[in-house]
Amino acid sequence: MGAVEKQQRTLATAGTWEYAPSIESREIVTFEDRYGLFIGGEEVAPRSRSWFTTVSPSTEEPLAEIAQAGPKDVARAVDAAREGFEAWSTWKPSERAKVLFRIARILQERARELAVAESLDGGKPIKESRDVDLPLAAAHFFYYAGWADKLEYAFPGRRPRPLGVAAQIVPWNFPLLMLAWKIAPALACGNTVVLKPAETTPLTALLFADVCRQAQVPPGVVNIVTGDGSTGAHLVRNGGVDKVAFTGSTEVGKAIQRELAGRDVPLTLELGGKAANIVFDDCALDQAVEGIVNGIYFNQGHVCCAGSRLLVQESIHDQLVRKLKRRMSTLRVGDPLDKNTDIGAINSKAQLDRIVELVESGTEEGAEVYQPPCRLPEKGWWFAPTIFTNVAQSHRIAQEEIFGPVLSVLTFRTPDEAVEKANNTMYGLSAGIWTEKGSRILWMADRLRAGVVWGNTFNRFDPASPFGGYKESGFGREGGRHGLEAYLRFE
Ligand code: NDP
Repeated sequence: MGAVEKQQRTLATAGTWEYAPSIESREIVTFEDRYGLFIGGEEVAPRSRSWFTTVSPSTEEPLAEIAQAGPKDVARAVDAAREGFEAWSTWKPSERAKVLFRIARILQERARELAVAESLDGGKPIKESRDVDLPLAAAHFFYYAGWADKLEYAFPGRRPRPLGVAAQIVPWNFPLLMLAWKIAPALACGNTVVLKPAETTPLTALLFADVCRQAQVPPGVVNIVTGDGSTGAHLVRNGGVDKVAFTGSTEVGKAIQRELAGRDVPLTLELGGKAANIVFDDCALDQAVEGIVNGIYFNQGHVCCAGSRLLVQESIHDQLVRKLKRRMSTLRVGDPLDKNTDIGAINSKAQLDRIVELVESGTEEGAEVYQPPCRLPEKGWWFAPTIFTNVAQSHRIAQEEIFGPVLSVLTFRTPDEAVEKANNTMYGLSAGIWTEKGSRILWMADRLRAGVVWGNTFNRFDPASPFGGYKESGFGREGGRHGLEAYLRFE
């Protein structure tokens, strides 16, 4: 045993330290009691006259009443976006860019407030909303602001033109970041948008409406309709939309595809994933352990590109699993607003039930489960970090997207076998490779059917880099120059 390993073992057996709580102040954000819809640049009451309550998943405390948009509300938002488009699409591109730059700067200025709101409404640890979601959301607006007056250079000789009104539906795992991924390129290209946030996480989208007011976004350019899945369905069905962009489950993605069949409406789908994180015996093992933990426990595993299948070269399986379990025992589960927290609350009761059901299927099918000892809060929805060993490829936990902090460990002997197992899924969103050989990373990346392949890292994002899937993970790309193409037609 090396000196470092011996020291780590001593530390691990000494038990985890009790950190003093370091709670981010929730006073920085004040929610209204009720939020209407954001249509035509102002807040309006829903014609449906229907409301629902959004709660904090870590305490089950109600946070605000939210409008449930019905078909008439959706139609009103689409009309407002159409009206907005008439003006916005004729603006000088450099003037549109200024608006996007203003949004980016305001997001930075209000980052702390928005991060707290995101953690309260969604349950994710504040260190993630503060250090990942908010900086990346602002970066997306900065990035696409830069493209707004350079579209002719992005697509030389193709005469790019905006599509019109974009319907955009986002999920609950990265509410503000997914909003930024959708709205920034759409606006940069001269489109207007109607965005539907997820039912369980509408608050940062509604605060974003206020950011739009502050940034003097013209009326009708950004419209936000809150509600459940039926609101999303009304939006897709509305004949006035010129583009649909959806991020969420494969099931709903397919329903949207069916709905749009026969209509001349371009579609982008960013759906589920079951990424393989592939670890070779020559890698820097401790670095890989950090990457594996980040790959699956980041955002409670509510990540479409989560590294939820760990493929380990057989010769290092036992050593890696030992190190991983030791690292897992140091993860802190609890209050999302505590800056020490690594794993926050599960986003909803429904999602928790789904995780529990899949984990039970894992033990029933014969895999071996491990969870480090940890005390979960009594109120709210929680799930301890979990790994399964002895997993077979046919197990549901190796095939289905769990969307929770649950890792399935499988083994391989050769690079060919690793590729075959990694590709043995209906999904194809992302993958990770851990090895000291650059040539092997390139060889693998060529053969992996995944939209994004990370080498010796995981879950790394940059607005300049395109993101999207193969197979049932969807089609179309978000981010980078590719992300502009989804919001343009060419004359
Ligand atoms: P959904 O696909 O149902 O939700 C995504 C978005 O679509 C939400 O805004 C949702 O609204 C909306 N929506 C729901 N039904 C329709 C419809 N018929 N037409 C248009 N829009 C609709 O995902 P869930 O929230 O139900 O999560 C279920 C599973 O999906 C998860 O366990 C996970 O496996 C996967 N998922 C994958 C994501 C990804 O990023 N790839 C993100 C989220 C989930 P509302 O929330 O109001 O119901």
